[in-house]
Amino acid sequence: MADYDFDLFTIGAGSGGVRASRIAAAHGARVAVAEEHRVGGTCVIRGCVPKKMLVYGSMFAEELSHADTLGWTIEGKSFDWATLRDFVNSDVDRLEGLYGKTLASHEVTVFAERATITGPHSVRLASGKEVTAKYILIATGAWPAMPDFPGVEHCISSNEVFHLGQQPKCLMVVGGGYIAMEFAGIFNALGSEVTVVNRTDRILRSYDEQIVDRMLHIAMGRGIDFRMHSQIKRVDKGDDGRLLVDLGETNTVKVDQVLIATGRNPKTDGLGLENAGIELAANGSIPVDEYNRTSCDSIYAVGDVTDRVQLTPVAIREGHAFADTVFGNNPRTIDYSAIPSAVFSQPPLAGVGMTESKARQTYGDVKVYTSDFRPMKNIFSPHAERGLYKMIVDQTSEKILGIHMIGPESPEIMQVAAVALKAGLTKQAFDDTVALHPSMAEELVLLK
Ligand code: NDP
Repeated sequence: MADYDFDLFTIGAGSGGVRASRIAAAHGARVAVAEEHRVGGTCVIRGCVPKKMLVYGSMFAEELSHADTLGWTIEGKSFDWATLRDFVNSDVDRLEGLYGKTLASHEVTVFAERATITGPHSVRLASGKEVTAKYILIATGAWPAMPDFPGVEHCISSNEVFHLGQQPKCLMVVGGGYIAMEFAGIFNALGSEVTVVNRTDRILRSYDEQIVDRMLHIAMGRGIDFRMHSQIKRVDKGDDGRLLVDLGETNTVKVDQVLIATGRNPKTDGLGLENAGIELAANGSIPVDEYNRTSCDSIYAVGDVTDRVQLTPVAIREGHAFADTVFGNNPRTIDYSAIPSAVFSQPPLAGVGMTESKARQTYGDVKVYTSDFRPMKNIFSPHAERGLYKMIVDQTSEKILGIHMIGPESPEIMQVAAVALKAGLTKQAFDDTVALHPSMAEELVLLK
């Protein structure tokens, strides 16, 4: 290995790249990582973490709206976007520092610049320096996909939304996926007028339809305007700085910001893959085998750039498995079944396993148990919103095939419920468990 400058050169210091680098170093490898933006990647810098903090910040509005019912008088309450934004961004700085410290404590060399692959064992840094490594790991993640319409340069993506100078009074969100539903919820709770523009009448496609319908119903009740079967034709910026959005058929809307949330593409532009003979898949991702190895024996890839499951915990597992396989003498693959996921909309929804329609397609007859309830927390609230939990089980064995829920704290409950599905339990195991009362989670053991 001494013939190379490093044993491992990782491109991208996001969740997958940092985990892989740290574990490889712990296995004794000499590791370097190049990062052209900030250490931490999408999740820490411009994704999951700051998004969740904005969700927490915005949820105060709901609590404050009925604080008087509970005896609290709060004089002169008001909201200042800049304070929330700056607090969130300062915590992102703190986390970036911690990630840097983790790499430093494992003696990983960090190059704060772009790296381009020049061959199976070599990269060139933006500064011009050539570096060689026995193995290269591509962990460059994904980047917002921006549609092609005139005036798209006036719109923002989730990269910019954390840095807005002012809270938009009127916000248009384009797309019906995770990012669209989460930011529509955040800005709606903060008092912005929110319009969601979606190209079909389906949102959150991978989630159970009944749960999504409940989310839509609640979101509309909270004032979010959904324009289904709608697409932006062009956006013009007026002299007042506001944006005039043409939705076709004389339908024009004036807003302060347009947030595009139409998916994220694997980030491979200018990476130099051709210098190692690696070809992209049709969807632009880097094809890898079950051990994360590309078509070039010395180059591996993990995380969003491989577009298997675009979720942080999956990228982390892939990075860890790669390091154990290549440097820990412990070949490991990842089990992609029954991965729980959640949308931090307001209220949040979560799911694991098959949706009802997928289970019916796969198994024919299935049993569906539900609980449609008003969470106790909502008794205080002006919103008479109801939660909905569903369990889909095999008709004969009663083995759990899917669990889906919408309601306060559903991601927290789902993490634990997912263990039951992963362990192959039946509905009987839930029936046998005594309810924890009063809680929302008890609905899971009271499903009818
Ligand atoms: P998603 O894939 O979740 O959703 C994309 C949305 O944009 C869909 O509604 C899709 O419609 C629509 N769309 C796609 N292309 C176009 C287009 N050209 N014009 C109009 N609409 C279009 O993407 P996001 O950007 O919301 O998030 C990216 C990924 O990041 C997610 O897949 C997820 O893996 C991850 N993420 C996870 C979060 C979490 O775990 N809570 C939070 C945020 C992101 P259609 O359904 O018709 O294709």
